[in-house]
Amino acid sequence: MYKKNLAVEKYTKTEHTTSFIAANLYALVYPLPFMIPYALLFIGFRAWLPESMTLQVSNPLPDVWFLSFIALFVFLAVFVVLHELVHAAFFLPACEGGRKSIVFGVKMLTPYCHCEELLSLRAYRRSCLAPLWVVCLPVAAISLFIPNWELFLLTLIMISGSGGDLWIVWALRKYNANTTLVYDRDDIVGCNVYVPIENPGVTPAVTSAESN
Ligand SMILES: [Zn+2]
Repeated sequence: MYKKNLAVEKYTKTEHTTSFIAANLYALVYPLPFMIPYALLFIGFRAWLPESMTLQVSNPLPDVWFLSFIALFVFLAVFVVLHELVHAAFFLPACEGGRKSIVFGVKMLTPYCHCEELLSLRAYRRSCLAPLWVVCLPVAAISLFIPNWELFLLTLIMISGSGGDLWIVWALRKYNANTTLVYDRDDIVGCNVYVPIENPGVTPAVTSAESN
């Protein structure tokens, strides 16, 4: 729904925002419930899996350290682009304006995908969590069968890349996913939440939840 079409008098607006520095700290904490089980599974699975069932992938690059460094950088860059494209793909079905409502950008060296429309909390949550299961989960599953510690570390880095998304999903957990509307912010990390007022006519309140 376009923001201009929102009957603001029928909603209570709450801001859930945070600074870029805090968002980077969240990236270290919020993915831990996914990173720790993955690490334990990887280590346990590696110890249990017979050698004959592992995929032996030989490194195609010459053994030169900076080539490995560049390969790592390229891999992470591709992952970051993929991460944002997955957000966009999950925003799209909920957008009236389609592709025109999706904006890509880079802020504080961090790429982002922003939707210029109000979305239901259900659609917003789906988009926030999508990179985790669309990108990280398949890579994590494949990494179990490849005896490669670099791939293991890359998978952990990829999961930690969903830290900001996991923070916002956690911050919005108390809201009704069907009736609550969310406006993603591109000027700051976070979003505005619009909860329908049960008895319209009462003056809408504007509150802020800086670090929920
Ligand atoms: Zn994200």
